[in-house]
Amino acid sequence: MPSYCEVALPVPLDHTFTYGVGQGQSPQCGARVIVPFRNEKLIGVVTALAAKAPPDFEVRYLEAVLDEEPLLSAHLLELGEWAAQYYLAPLGEVLRTMLPLAAEVRRTVYYRITDLGRDVLATAMEGDAGGFGSCAKKTNAGPSTRPLRGLAQDDMQSFTDQDDSIEKIRDERPRNILAGRRKGKLSREAQDMERRVLERLGSGEPVKVSTLRTATAAPLPLLAAMLRKKWIARETAAAERDARRMERFAVLIPDTRLPSLTEKQQAILAELAACDGELPLAELRRRDLPSSTLQTLVRRELVRIEERPELFRLGGLPPTAAPFSLNAAQTDALTAVTSALGAFRPFLLYGITGSGKTAVYLAAMQKALDRGLSSILLVPEIGLTPQTAGLLDAAFGQKVALLHSALTPEERSEQWRRIRRGEAPIIVGTRSAIFAPAPNLGLILVYEEHDQSYKQEETPRYNARDVAVMRAKLAGAVVVMGSATPSLESWHNAERGKYTCIELRDRVMNRPLPEVELVDMRREFQEAGKDELFSRALIAQTKAALERGEQALILLNRRGYSFAVMCRACGEKLDCQNCAIALTHHKAASEDLAEVRAGQRLECHYCGYRRTVPTRCPKCDSEHLFYLGAGSQQGEERLQEIFPGARIGRMDRDTVRGRGDLERLLARLHLGEINLLVGTQMIAKGHDIHSVTLVGVVGCDHSLSMPDFRAAERVFQLMTQVSGRAGRGELPGRVVVQTYYPDHYAILAATTHDYKAFAERELKYRRWMHYPPFGVLANVLVQSQKMEEAAGWAALLAKSLVQNQNSGGVRVLGPCTAPIARIKNVYRFHMILKSASRKALNAALRGMLAKADEAGIPRRNLIVDVDALRLM
Ligand code: ADP
Ligand code: ZN
Ligand code: ZN
Repeated sequence: MPSYCEVALPVPLDHTFTYGVGQGQSPQCGARVIVPFRNEKLIGVVTALAAKAPPDFEVRYLEAVLDEEPLLSAHLLELGEWAAQYYLAPLGEVLRTMLPLAAEVRRTVYYRITDLGRDVLATAMEGDAGGFGSCAKKTNAGPSTRPLRGLAQDDMQSFTDQDDSIEKIRDERPRNILAGRRKGKLSREAQDMERRVLERLGSGEPVKVSTLRTATAAPLPLLAAMLRKKWIARETAAAERDARRMERFAVLIPDTRLPSLTEKQQAILAELAACDGELPLAELRRRDLPSSTLQTLVRRELVRIEERPELFRLGGLPPTAAPFSLNAAQTDALTAVTSALGAFRPFLLYGITGSGKTAVYLAAMQKALDRGLSSILLVPEIGLTPQTAGLLDAAFGQKVALLHSALTPEERSEQWRRIRRGEAPIIVGTRSAIFAPAPNLGLILVYEEHDQSYKQEETPRYNARDVAVMRAKLAGAVVVMGSATPSLESWHNAERGKYTCIELRDRVMNRPLPEVELVDMRREFQEAGKDELFSRALIAQTKAALERGEQALILLNRRGYSFAVMCRACGEKLDCQNCAIALTHHKAASEDLAEVRAGQRLECHYCGYRRTVPTRCPKCDSEHLFYLGAGSQQGEERLQEIFPGARIGRMDRDTVRGRGDLERLLARLHLGEINLLVGTQMIAKGHDIHSVTLVGVVGCDHSLSMPDFRAAERVFQLMTQVSGRAGRGELPGRVVVQTYYPDHYAILAATTHDYKAFAERELKYRRWMHYPPFGVLANVLVQSQKMEEAAGWAALLAKSLVQNQNSGGVRVLGPCTAPIARIKNVYRFHMILKSASRKALNAALRGMLAKADEAGIPRRNLIVDVDALRLM
């Protein structure tokens, strides 16, 4: 019987924690436990068992063991350990990502007054004349417990943060009452609030955060500030809860009596009888049948109410296409994949847009299912198109599980459980679905494998495509990465035989790829004599398509109205107050009354900061402000002017907030209610709309001028993907690309749909520059609210890395200020590490983290991004 165990906790520290096993507890590796950690109760996962405690171990015991059996299989635990190692992420944070079970634990946050808080309160009571703020100054003496190094209170999160916790504090915008906090002065109002909080907590009993806030009206940032001053302490309790979603049904009770009934009562009984005697209550409500009448029927014992676990429905758009059988190329692809089932084997499915990859995926999943194997289909963040969902629903129905960030915590935990129980062997989801607990995993499919959204841009910064390969290896499964524009990493792997390449060279039914016309926007300006957003060629083609009754998509890859506001008098650019980035101008949406009243706004796309549009330059007071660059909102407005008769829709993150929005917009496009759709890259993703014959590309090439070695790849992918939306039906398609770089190889290759030419050229350049896939790379960001501190730390770490270079072959570029030098008031410095060897890179980063620890640099101020995609 082990007396100790190692527990991985979701805190930003790179090690596990030892706990004593109590009487009657029998934790197993891979099971969740609740443990005390500072003032919190955290949920962790047991990673090892031991009979002996480590030296100088101060024993703390497990509070509860949540799972009798391991929740994570040995191979998933191994995968988690691999990811933690590879991405230099704390294991606990990786495991938190792997277990989306927040809904199963109820977490309550309490606040308690500290000794320091009591002193403050007493002082305030005595010398009331001095005011509450004045006593704040003398109370700097720290509390007895020294915080763990590298771990601030704000980092405390668990697998379960979902209520009034830190996340919300971060999100809540600074309130006015906290204005001036940085200078140490608080508004009178805030001081009063602080006092009320201390008084409410005065008895010493912990008070629930919700109770405290109701009693004192204190906002979360104020509590967070008091927490930092150590006047109050925060505690959490965790307890299990039932997260199953239940659905209530009205069930007809068969009866031979013929009671007299009102009209409404008869209506309900008739509805139920028409639907096999039962209907969900929600459905009755939708049919406008009053619940009071239902209650009467229940009382009269004609109907009973039953509660059952809610069934999961994938939904989507019902398939419209006539059934077809796979063509020869698709059949070959399918055979290659299915004959490899049963062992690890990676494939790259390189198939041009419209070559019918989806049908191959579906057929492969069916074959796996026939052999009792489960499959995971990974889709990009906005990649599960309603059509694909509809196809999966039609083919697999209740066997499908969905794991997606738009699900509620309850839905997510329910899906996870269904998968684990083996009820849903067809798993579809965005990146974290790669960790789905699928029993008997036989097949992993990565849809549009080049998509950037497979990379998580927060800890753990994994790339689901790469994790997929490791998962397949551990599970002995086949993995298929598919795309019309494979990432250069995958292409290179296919070229050197690490992946087997399967090619779909033609579009289905031998439909032609669309013809692409390039418009040189420099010439356009000279010839047209003015700077217009849309070229004459694009306008003419759009007009023609609309007149023929066809549909057009126009890509304008920035949201908002204008990207920047500048002053003509002094040249000042209006930046976000928290970030070193220009504010985007958004016009008021006419539907939204509040917005109209507030008028238009400027918004920061990094931190969400918003302000009204000034009429004068904040720096020189000149009236001559002008707006620069056109976003999708302006595109829509211009198109409305040019084509007053067109039915225009817009697809971007301002119009598509949830999955429902995307579905509605696409449904309208399918039905022809929209015939001209303008939008950001969202319109490029996987949509298959047969009457789209024209695609316009407006400004997707700005990034070619930026210092980012992946810019060309990204522009090529976006152009090819969006072009691929044209001419997928019977009618041929056409693409008009407006560009300022008509001679750039990425643009030229996209024009001829020539992936191979692009890849060859790009790989040459990458090889020459030692960029991935020829060598590996990590981006290290060092951040602090104090610029000198961030700069100093970055310099120190870079120096240690360079001195350590005898460890072998790691080049350090930088440190320098990051391309976005400040985000959310945090200054950012970065350096890029390059190496020919993954092992050397990993070792160098590990050495750097050790150095940071030694130098007292808090871990959360360092971001290590292995295989970084964004170097901003
Ligand atoms: P991709 O993902 O490769 O861009 P899709 O899988 O979306 O292409 O297929 C493009 C279109 O061709 C879809 O409308 C699909 O229904 C249709 N399709 C696929 N395979 C066939 C086939 N063998 N015969 C006829 N139509 C097909
Ligand atoms: Zn000015
Ligand atoms: Zn900002």
